[in-house]
Amino acid sequence: MSSNEQIAHIANNFLRTIIDEDLKSGKHNSIVTRFPPEPNGYLHIGHAKSICINFGLARDFGGRCHLRFDDTNPAKEEQEYIDSIKESVRWLGFDWGEHLYYASDNFEQLYQWAVFLIEQGKAYVEDLNAEQIRAYRGTLTEPGKDSPYRSRSVDESLDLFSRMRAGEFPDGTRVLRAKIDMASPNINLRDPVLYRILHTPHPHVGDAWKIYPMYDFAHGQTDAIEGITHSICTLEFESHKPLYEWFLDNLPVPARPRQYEFARLNLTYTVMSKRKLQELVQLQIVSGWDDPRLPTLEGLKRRGYTPASVKNFCEQIGVGRSDSWIDVTNLEECVRADLNITAPRAMAVLRPIKLIIDNYPVGQVEEMLAANHPQNPEMGSRSINFSREIWIDADDFMEIPSKGFHRLSPGGEVKLRSSYIVKCTSITKDKNGDIVELHGEYDPASREGIHTSDGRKVKGVIHWVSAAHAVTAEVRLFDRLFSDPNPDRGGADYKQFLNPSSIETLSNCKLEASLSCADSETRYQFERTGYFRIDPKDSTSDKMVFNRIVTLRDTWNQK
Ligand code: ATP
Ligand code: MG
Repeated sequence: MSSNEQIAHIANNFLRTIIDEDLKSGKHNSIVTRFPPEPNGYLHIGHAKSICINFGLARDFGGRCHLRFDDTNPAKEEQEYIDSIKESVRWLGFDWGEHLYYASDNFEQLYQWAVFLIEQGKAYVEDLNAEQIRAYRGTLTEPGKDSPYRSRSVDESLDLFSRMRAGEFPDGTRVLRAKIDMASPNINLRDPVLYRILHTPHPHVGDAWKIYPMYDFAHGQTDAIEGITHSICTLEFESHKPLYEWFLDNLPVPARPRQYEFARLNLTYTVMSKRKLQELVQLQIVSGWDDPRLPTLEGLKRRGYTPASVKNFCEQIGVGRSDSWIDVTNLEECVRADLNITAPRAMAVLRPIKLIIDNYPVGQVEEMLAANHPQNPEMGSRSINFSREIWIDADDFMEIPSKGFHRLSPGGEVKLRSSYIVKCTSITKDKNGDIVELHGEYDPASREGIHTSDGRKVKGVIHWVSAAHAVTAEVRLFDRLFSDPNPDRGGADYKQFLNPSSIETLSNCKLEASLSCADSETRYQFERTGYFRIDPKDSTSDKMVFNRIVTLRDTWNQK
């Protein structure tokens, strides 16, 4: 398939249209995009949208995409985050090749450009403190006021700026500001701060700097240095665009990137801001950034999501310019669709109750053949041991069956998947009246199909595991972390919407023997209960732990 044909398979969007035109008109011969995370936390599914857009455009139009750390705030950035971000981008299947960059690699150039602005009379050192600067800035309806230091001489600003760099002044005592327009209707143009003093070592450049550029002063210039053609960001940067362009207009930058904005991803039943995710981690509401209930890419990965399902989701939601909410069921549906095709089937009893088949010979074991995938014979089959004592799921038994219950009940019959039809003959209870075990009888002529030896048809089919051969494992069932579709709404504390039962740990699950050699690469469909995978972190050779990735169908909307 040629690259043009590939593009035809992908939904068009306004960014594709722009790039198409820029390539056709000869404005650009090839495109360069970038994904520019700040390393102040782990990436989430919203970032995946941005990654898929930026790397996807570069791939589809034969250009390249840079991974750039926008690391201008050392107070919040850490090497741990740099490492995890790289890992997450790779996990999604994208490759930046040799194009890994750090905004901080340009600190010397940015400093020189700041000096250039001072020399041009377009920047000045400010002595007002943060509070005063805010008071002078004005509001959306009132213009700002000039600072008394705005008219300070070029030489004085140059001197003070170099002494800021040398570390002569404490944090917060001075800043460098651009001299643009204190009356501009766009507040971002009211003499924005370019540099602040921060005696904090930096995760990438160490303790070389005592001043750090603001995001706005670093971002566009870094785009220009890297030769980015299309600088794609989320809509909240739209009001920063005039400033982005002011810097490009007023500095001797080597290229002229252009900024384009798209609507960020909002997903129901979750929060995505790194600040809130960090808070959930710090308050130990979740077990870490990779908690399988989080929308972080590390969380989705640990839960068992496939990169393909996350990329399909990003493709399906499209790229637009109006803010919208995506229902989290869309994400769940993507992983379901992927695993339905790829996941081998297996039997696992999550809430075991023992069924003793009294008319089956003690000590006898039969091997039952079970297909690994009902629609895909190429995935082969496996043999499952059947014996006199089996585990069935407590949910598949009702002492007093409700109407329409077609599974096991006293006197009732059910088909054991890939095995016999059994009938429940009695219940053994303890002195409290709780069920200890069930007794039953099997129909030796019913191994194939769903008919009894006397020709009756049995409606229910349940899964089971031979007690003598079962492997015991812990299984974790996840529900949504929040019980409200928009826990972020209205400035209320999002934590009040936490779902108190977002995780259920079942510690005595009985799995078919073949799962004893399950590896963390394989996702399984446990028949009738969902898609599962080994938890790669907590599973050990002594104790297997499985995570439920997703249920077989959307059970949430039925609640
Ligand atoms: P957050 O607000 O969640 O902490 P951020 O915007 O501060 O995220 P950055 O590290 O600055 O995170 O983001 C890197 C890139 O990812 C930016 O281009 C940003 O626009 C984009 N991005 C962040 N969140 C989303 C989202 N929800 N949907 C789409 N793109 C996003
Ligand atoms: Mg940010």
